[in-house]
Amino acid sequence: MLLSTTRGHGLATRPVRLRGREPFGTVGAVTGDLALAIDIGGTKLEVGLVDLEGGVVRRARVATPAREGAEDMFAALAGLVSEVLDGGADPMVCGVGTGGPMTRGGATVSPINIPAWRGFPLHDRLAELTEVPTFVDNDAKALALGEGWVGAARGSDDYVAMVVSTGVGGGIVLDGRLLDGADGNAGHIGHVMVVPDGHQCGCGARGCLEAEASGTAIAAITGRPAAEAGPDIVHRTGTLVGRAVASVANLLDLRLAVVAGSVALGFGDAFFAAAQAEVDRSARLDFSTGTVIRPGRLGADGPLVGAAAVGWRGLGVGVGP
Ligand SMILES: [Zn+2]
Repeated sequence: MLLSTTRGHGLATRPVRLRGREPFGTVGAVTGDLALAIDIGGTKLEVGLVDLEGGVVRRARVATPAREGAEDMFAALAGLVSEVLDGGADPMVCGVGTGGPMTRGGATVSPINIPAWRGFPLHDRLAELTEVPTFVDNDAKALALGEGWVGAARGSDDYVAMVVSTGVGGGIVLDGRLLDGADGNAGHIGHVMVVPDGHQCGCGARGCLEAEASGTAIAAITGRPAAEAGPDIVHRTGTLVGRAVASVANLLDLRLAVVAGSVALGFGDAFFAAAQAEVDRSARLDFSTGTVIRPGRLGADGPLVGAAAVGWRGLGVGVGP
C-alpha cells in the first residue's frame, strides 16, 4: 500500500488516535485499525469491517427493504451493524456510500431507488447508532476513492471513476483530491450529454449518458435486459461512455478513467474496446491524447472499500494514490 500525507487524500503513515479510544479494533483473530463500512443500495444493504490495507475482514448483507417504512429500513441496517460488530469489534470510524440525492454530508438522504427514505437523517442516525465519527457520501464518489486507494487508479492523482450499472454515476479525483463541488455532487458524469436530442433522461434533459448507456436505458431502448444486449448495443454503449470520458479528459486535464458497474463489466472486452476507440477519437488535445480507460478492479468489494475510504477521508486520514 502506498502511504502518503503529502497529497490531499494520501493515506496517513500512522494510525490516527481518537481521544479516549485505543486505535485498534479486534475481530476474532483480526486486529488493527478498522472502519465500519456501509453500502446502501437499491438492491442490497451491506455492512463490513475494512482494514487499513483495504481488506474486507467481515461482512453482512441483506436485500434492501426499499418499500417498507423508513424505520423498518433503518432497523434492517442497524441489524447488520450489530451482526458485524458482534464479538467486540471496535471500529474507529463509520464510512457510508449511498445512492443520492442527498444534502451535504448525508444530513438527509433520498435515494431514488429507496422510496422508504425521503429526507431521511442518515448521518445523525448512524452517528447515534455507532458512536464513532460518521461520514456519508455518494456511492460513486466512494468508489472513486476506493479505486484510488487499492484499485485500478492506485498511484494516479488525476482520474475519473465511473459506475455503469442500473444508472451511471461517477467521482473525480483531481490533484490528489476527491472533488465535492458546491453541494457535494461533483462527478455526475451520467448527465454529461452524449447524444444531442437523444432519449429523455430522468433529470429532465435529453441525451444524457445515463439516458443512453445505463442498464435502465438499454432495457428501455431494446426491450430486453442489458445482460441480453447484442453486439451493436455493446458497441454503442461503449462508444457513448468513451465520448463522455473524452469530454471529461479534455475539460479536466486527466488521463485515466476507471469504469466499473454491472453493465460495463458484464459487456466486457468489446465494451472497453469501443470506449477506448472513442476516447482515442475524441480526446485529441496534447494533454488528453493517450487517455486510458481501465476496468474497475475492486469487484464485489468495491462498495465496502469505497465506504471505508469515505470514513478515513472524513477523519482526515484520507485514502488514495
Ligand atoms: Zn440527465
